[in-house]
Amino acid sequence: MARIAIIGAGLAGLYAADRLEQLGIDYVLLEARAAPGGRIASARRPGAGAADRFDLGPTWFWPALQPQLERLIEDLGLHRFAQHEDGAMLVERSADCAPERMRGYPSEPAAQRLFGGMQSLVDALRERLDPQRVFTQRRVSTLHQTGAKIEIGSEGPGGRGTMSADEVWLALPPRLAARDLQFGPDLPAALRRQWAATATWMAPHAKYLALYERPFWREQGLSGEARSLPGPLGEIHDASLPDGSAALFGFFALPAHLRRSAPEAQLHSACREQLTRLFGPLA
Ligand SMILES: Cc1cc2nc3c(=O)[nH]c(=O)nc-3n(C[C@H](O)[C@H](O)[C@H](O)COP(=O)(O)OP(=O)(O)OC[C@H]3O[C@@H](n4cnc5c(N)ncnc54)[C@H](O)[C@@H]3O)c2cc1C
Repeated sequence: MARIAIIGAGLAGLYAADRLEQLGIDYVLLEARAAPGGRIASARRPGAGAADRFDLGPTWFWPALQPQLERLIEDLGLHRFAQHEDGAMLVERSADCAPERMRGYPSEPAAQRLFGGMQSLVDALRERLDPQRVFTQRRVSTLHQTGAKIEIGSEGPGGRGTMSADEVWLALPPRLAARDLQFGPDLPAALRRQWAATATWMAPHAKYLALYERPFWREQGLSGEARSLPGPLGEIHDASLPDGSAALFGFFALPAHLRRSAPEAQLHSACREQLTRLFGPLA
């Protein structure tokens, strides 16, 4: 029996748990996957240290626009650096025409990144939580009100489990809550429709990452930024680490259902071809 049960250990759920931990309020955090972080995922170069990580999910934040996140990052003692944007950008209007080189448009205010990738935010938050309160591999499926309590049913490797709480905080996209959770009593129909119709920010996005020995595009006065109509990557940026590995990342322009149906090797080679069209044979 917990006072508050948080469903979902992405950044929202981890932050909620951290606040409750700081305030000494009793809680549990239930996560469907094997590890917390949700859409945050930072991949490590094989054989490299924890700092040498690249974001496959979110990477940028803007302190002036996200002051609460900025305060959290300061409080956790994490270090940041600005997104590299110096130099010209490339625009590819068709696969048959050479890419156009044009002046870059650095964003204002500059986007910031974290040393160690966004995963360092997840790691630092998780370290502050009592591990006994964090349950991974618990996919919540039912929430039933019984008197003053809420019975929480979940599935995991050990089978079905139940626990109860005074309050449940949903820290998962509303569309998933409407689709996957069974409520008793049922949600009002209008609320269920509203949740089902709430778009999940950046849900269809995925990144391709290419690692290099050095950021050779900078030697050509290029920022690493590109826009492309033929794709498969629609928007490309420098993903290099200061004094670390060099990299470019691109957001797929291909919709998720096409990405899923295309063989992975085919996608990889299309991305490599595109990076070579844009940045030359060194890519
Ligand atoms: C490729 C990509 C790039 C992005 N780039 C940026 C960026 O640069 N800057 C930015 O600000 N944002 C960016 N975003 C958006 C950002 O990732 C999300 O807004 C943010 O991570 C959402 O966090 P969350 O905790 O709200 O949700 P999520 O990260 O989705 O976490 C929800 C959690 O709930 C869990 N869960 C789901 N169902 C259940 C269940 N039934 N029981 C238990 N647990 C459950 C999930 O496993 C997950 O861990 C990007 C997203 C993507 C995909």
